[in-house]
Amino acid sequence: MKDLISLFVPHSSSTTESNKTGSWRFLRPRYDEKRAPCCAACPAGEDIARIEMLTARGLFKEAWETILEENPFPAVCGRVCFHPCETKCNRREFDEGITIHVIERFLADTAARNGFKPRLKRFESRNRKVAVLGAGPLGLAAAWFLARLGYGCDVFESAPEPGGVLRYATPANRLPVSVLNAEIEQVRGAGFALYCAKPLTKAFLEEIRGGYDAVFIGCGKSGGEGLPVTGEEVASAEREGAPRLSGSLIVPGPPVIVYGGVFASHIKSVAHEVATGKEAAIGLDILFQKGPEAVLQDLESCRVGDGPSLSMEIYMGGPRCARNRHVVAFSEINIDHFQFAPKVAQPGLLRDESGATPAEIDLRISAGMAEKEAQRCFNCGLCNQCDNCRLYCPDLAVVIESGSGKRLIDYDHCKGCGICVVECPRNAMSLEKN
Ligand code: SF4
Ligand code: SF4
Ligand code: SF4
Repeated sequence: MKDLISLFVPHSSSTTESNKTGSWRFLRPRYDEKRAPCCAACPAGEDIARIEMLTARGLFKEAWETILEENPFPAVCGRVCFHPCETKCNRREFDEGITIHVIERFLADTAARNGFKPRLKRFESRNRKVAVLGAGPLGLAAAWFLARLGYGCDVFESAPEPGGVLRYATPANRLPVSVLNAEIEQVRGAGFALYCAKPLTKAFLEEIRGGYDAVFIGCGKSGGEGLPVTGEEVASAEREGAPRLSGSLIVPGPPVIVYGGVFASHIKSVAHEVATGKEAAIGLDILFQKGPEAVLQDLESCRVGDGPSLSMEIYMGGPRCARNRHVVAFSEINIDHFQFAPKVAQPGLLRDESGATPAEIDLRISAGMAEKEAQRCFNCGLCNQCDNCRLYCPDLAVVIESGSGKRLIDYDHCKGCGICVVECPRNAMSLEKN
């Protein structure tokens, strides 16, 4: 019987590439990276989804540089920041949130231990000079961002050493002086002059104001008691139309006077001071390049999410610009692709060499633990090249770009079924009308 049935074996003599099935499509998938809620909640606007992605791969220097794009104080913030980012982490709704600040501390300590030097984008010289009054986290952050934007900067401090509240009002068991000194040294690498033990008085301000295009007043009330700055003066400048930003006030000059910190904002945390220093630096640059009318609108285009967090990388035209401003919610994560895993770095679970349980602030994690913890991150809104889109596509219409390794859609053959978009674990794709 078997011999009586002729066997027909289907056989293709060429590929089906010539069949342009893409013309059947009425929906179109596209790569569409978005923002993570942790990044939007971080006052400094750090690109946490990317930091975790790099850490998960052991790329610690790159991860540290990604922090520095937005925040020059990771060793400090990894210790003293109250980490509002973690309270918004999408993974909290799945099992436990990512311990973002512990990883931040690990990356900063690893960078200091290995003597890493950051390679960050800088603008050409703007041929302008700014005086910064106060060398606390606010003034130093402003100088760091101004230097990167191409400004010459002189920082003046009334105390004998820089650091402000971090040096003189933070207990050493929360922030060791050696850590602070190392981080300030790193920040100074941006290229600005620092003059300590300068009484920041009205006479001093009068003496220097002619030599600068702008003066940033970033000292706390204790450091600037003698300055001609009162709440009433700030309010009257505001009434006269000076751009009021979320943490600073810019009064057109010459010289332009920028009020930051306690003079313009009531929020006190290192991350907020970094945010204010960044806002003032970007605001000043917009003012000098385009005039006062452009300041608020251009700053708006650098927001990370719906809140006040700003991105220097976006302002400088980096890859983050291309991301959609939508903030990915937990309901938009495809949790089928993740497994339950408790956080790695848990205070109370780790033991130090003597067998004692270290306090949370003393928590140290190994490189392996940092990678493992970062691997728990969903990388909300960010393509981490997991390849789900390519593997699930029934039409082999997702291809890898040679060289960059980026995933691309072959629209000649994509039929628009949307499977890739649904199966992307982290909502880095969107489906729209063709
Ligand atoms: S899972 Fe990762 S990217 Fe998503 S919110 Fe948490 S830390 Fe941010
Ligand atoms: S499925 Fe993976 S590779 Fe594809 S877009 Fe999403 S994150 Fe990127
Ligand atoms: S799974 Fe393939 S065919 Fe379907 S929309 Fe995505 S790329 Fe197109």
